[in-house]
Amino acid sequence: MNFTLLEQNILIAKGLTAEQLNALDAAGLRAKADFATVGDAATLCQLLPSLDPAIAAAVMEWALGRPAASATQEPAKLVVDSPDAVYCVHCNARQPKDYKTGELCPGCGKQAEPVQSCHWCSATGPGKFCRGCGAAFVPLAEFDLAVLLKREGVAKEEISRRLLVMTAQEKNELWGRVRRIHG
Ligand SMILES: [Zn+2]
Ligand SMILES: [Zn+2]
Repeated sequence: MNFTLLEQNILIAKGLTAEQLNALDAAGLRAKADFATVGDAATLCQLLPSLDPAIAAAVMEWALGRPAASATQEPAKLVVDSPDAVYCVHCNARQPKDYKTGELCPGCGKQAEPVQSCHWCSATGPGKFCRGCGAAFVPLAEFDLAVLLKREGVAKEEISRRLLVMTAQEKNELWGRVRRIHG
């Protein structure tokens, strides 16, 4: 075996067993440089079927000095650290990156995002969608209409869309039904 003592110890620290080191040797993988020929963790696992894919990835990362393609074919996860930018509903100013819900707009001094009530699950929160149930918030003025549509069996995803495309006349008719229920 041509691995130095240090390399052997590193490989063992990464999780390889002595048997697996011998198996690598038998497969012709005898020096750190040979990992470059192997190329990726998946190939290493094919050479050494007993090897855990996570250990193979760690070994390849060490040997190649960079993150290796994962042996398990998981799609890369996108890390989204900045959600949609928030704009003030009053003056439309873009809010700072570290903006938190409830803070005042630096442009006009009012609450950039008013807290809304969900017609579907009654949770409250800012933004366009309810964090409780995912329903799209409806304009405050149409809250009662949305509640009525829910009561009449309209699907959660449909309500805000339905209100958006409704004519004034259809809304009036709906308001009539709301009043009949409350009256
Ligand atoms: Zn503002
Ligand atoms: Zn909700």
